[in-house]
Amino acid sequence: MDTAVVVFTRDLRVHDHPALSAAARADAVVPLFVFDDGILAGPFNRPNRTGFLLESLTDLHESLVGLGGRLVVRRGDWVAEVAAAAAAVGARSVHVSDDVSPFARRRIEALRAAAGVTVEVHPGVNVVEPLAVTPNGKDHFQVFTPYHNRWQATPRRSLLGVPAAIAVPDAEVGIDLPRLADLVAGDRSPAVAPGGETAGRAALTAFVRERLAGYGDRHDDLPGDATSRIAPYLRFGCLSPLDVLHTVAGRPGAEPFVRQLCWRDFYAQCLVARPRAAWADYRTRGDDWNDDPAAFAAWTAGLTGYPVVDAAMRQLRQEGFVHNRARMITASFLTKDLYLDWRLGARWFLDWLVDGEIANNNLNWQWTAGTGTDTNPHRIFNPTVQGQRFDPDGDYVRRYVPELASVAGGAVHEPWNLPPLERALLDYPEPIVDHRAAIAEYKDRQADLSARRRAADADANAG
Ligand SMILES: Cc1cc2nc3c(=O)[nH]c(=O)nc-3n(C[C@H](O)[C@H](O)[C@H](O)COP(=O)(O)OP(=O)(O)OC[C@H]3O[C@@H](n4cnc5c(N)ncnc54)[C@H](O)[C@@H]3O)c2cc1C
Repeated sequence: MDTAVVVFTRDLRVHDHPALSAAARADAVVPLFVFDDGILAGPFNRPNRTGFLLESLTDLHESLVGLGGRLVVRRGDWVAEVAAAAAAVGARSVHVSDDVSPFARRRIEALRAAAGVTVEVHPGVNVVEPLAVTPNGKDHFQVFTPYHNRWQATPRRSLLGVPAAIAVPDAEVGIDLPRLADLVAGDRSPAVAPGGETAGRAALTAFVRERLAGYGDRHDDLPGDATSRIAPYLRFGCLSPLDVLHTVAGRPGAEPFVRQLCWRDFYAQCLVARPRAAWADYRTRGDDWNDDPAAFAAWTAGLTGYPVVDAAMRQLRQEGFVHNRARMITASFLTKDLYLDWRLGARWFLDWLVDGEIANNNLNWQWTAGTGTDTNPHRIFNPTVQGQRFDPDGDYVRRYVPELASVAGGAVHEPWNLPPLERALLDYPEPIVDHRAAIAEYKDRQADLSARRRAADADANAG
């Protein structure tokens, strides 16, 4: 009997799953998930994501039961556990989805090297596989627009359906699904999205029905919350990005939305080509960041005195999610107004975001900080102007910053301009920095850094 193993990683679905479909062609298949002790012991095992993962695994198990199978769960060293499961059932092949983070890629390579297992790596995490398209003479696209043009013209694989049936050999028994408290200390955010393919497909359906047509005009509307909120489901593969593309194709609003999906693939290919960019500057300017723990603490707590920044930071803790515009505003505030290292912000986001993952998080952080694919040092967000523009009536701020709930309309973005008596009644801090002064200082530093780089280049050329 031909038996195969399919190892689920962050592809927790049964629709459009190339690795699952390939494994399902064998006589019997072990659908396996391994809780990797390396991840569980690491800094990114956080309640919001691990809770979402557990719900997604429960949902996946139920889907597999509906196909006549079940999910086999193990825990330990990922490579050793996968190899042991394959050996226990005499499997000839192990199927796994390709991935982009340095950690995931090393893990797959280690599995390939493990004796006795033929590892077949499949697409499924991205629409266009990283590095499937490259510009002439370069190893990856460093600029988004040319990548987007090529991405649009790249032929896609066919969309796959759900396998008709999954026959799991009796021999292979795993452990029961652990409880959250067995895996990680701490609580999830109170308003976090539910995990699982079923919830993800429902979220996508609701978005297509209610908000896709207006996406182009409204995606930056902070209080309107008019984006899809499917990022967590893409993060854990509860939705296939290709399936999402097929679902929206040809509908009003699809074009600007699909462009955003392309950013996800863009950063994936950047990270695969430059694994060091996970935590090192993609393009370094030689920044000498401030060391200011008090300012960082105020930022994390949402107590900077800039209402829209504080609303974003409160939304992060409350929902494990932040609107994209608000992510950019608050990241700009950390790296430009406070001139704090983008890595501090990226780590904090990864502590809380359900959709948090290295490629999208860290390279978006670098984009905002000016160390990434876009090094324009003049891309600076004025937090007050951004608030007034994208939250003109102040509803986003009041939703997340209860201390400002009594301030009506757009005045909420400038508490310092309120009548003194009204201001005095608010339990809300003064701005921790003056935006104008902070940005003037930031620009001086950048001018100085550019001059030093030019001098160093001149020296190098002369030498
Ligand atoms: C500082 C910072 C950190 C970020 N961290 C993450 C992260 O950890 N994980 C993550 O998935 N996204 C991250 N993003 C990108 C973006 O903010 C989120 O993908 C988006 O807000 C998710 O909401 P949505 O699903 O409603 O997006 P929609 O607007 O509905 O977009 C649809 C999908 O397109 C993709 N997408 C949209 N914008 C971007 C973008 N700028 N870069 C890459 N993909 C994008 C996402 O997969 C998203 O789900 C970050 C952005 C910034 C500025």
